[in-house]
Amino acid sequence: MKFPFSRKTVMHAPHLAHGIYTDKSEPVVEVKSKMKIFERERTSYQCSRVVFMGGPGVGKSAIIARYLYGDYREYHERTVEDFHSRTFKIGTVLLQLDIIDTTGSYVFPAMRRVAMAKGDVFALVYSVDDFQSFEEVLAIQKEIHEQRPRRNYSVVVVGNKLDLREKREIAPDEAEMMSCGESREEFLETSARDNINIECLFERIFCQSVNKEGISS
Ligand code: GDP
Ligand code: MG
Repeated sequence: MKFPFSRKTVMHAPHLAHGIYTDKSEPVVEVKSKMKIFERERTSYQCSRVVFMGGPGVGKSAIIARYLYGDYREYHERTVEDFHSRTFKIGTVLLQLDIIDTTGSYVFPAMRRVAMAKGDVFALVYSVDDFQSFEEVLAIQKEIHEQRPRRNYSVVVVGNKLDLREKREIAPDEAEMMSCGESREEFLETSARDNINIECLFERIFCQSVNKEGISS
């Protein structure tokens, strides 16, 4: 499902306040970044598919809604598969992110395989208060590795619900050690509820997307 992105939404999200409009109906959201990789002499246009995967209820949809709409809801709506497309202007790079928000239950194995086949960047989300959800992320990561032996993608492992750190079932250094062995695998903890590290997560996704195109400094 494609969501409309209205000017009102832009104004509601403080970090999207730099939203600018092109003559296309889709807004281009300008993101401020200090990173050198986004400052080239000529404007370049790139496209990247970001696939959010992880068990049900870990906060995948909440993270996406927090970043794109500045919105957070307490209730859990089962996702089948949602699609969001947004173009960001970061320095001299116009980056179109196609964000695929998958269901956590993966009752449709074909959809899961297709999602794994088409991602450029995978955000693999677990909940810090649920060790089983972390194991699920490891299983998904293994499956992606097996399905994509050329390893032409990158991974960000995300420990969400950091606000529940009192109930945590896995320490961040342990999670990072177990999930990240390669340079294109990153790790961070977030809270969609308290808006912790959500911008940082998307900044990493931007960098991974651009690096993929061989523009890294
Ligand atoms: P998804 O199935 O992975 O897409 O999970 P949802 O985004 O639908 O979130 C599942 C439930 O967890 C909802 O009730 C959310 O309000 C809640 N949730 C999501 N992110 C957080 C968070 O960072 N902290 C806490 N405490 N709850 C969260
Ligand atoms: Mg969801």
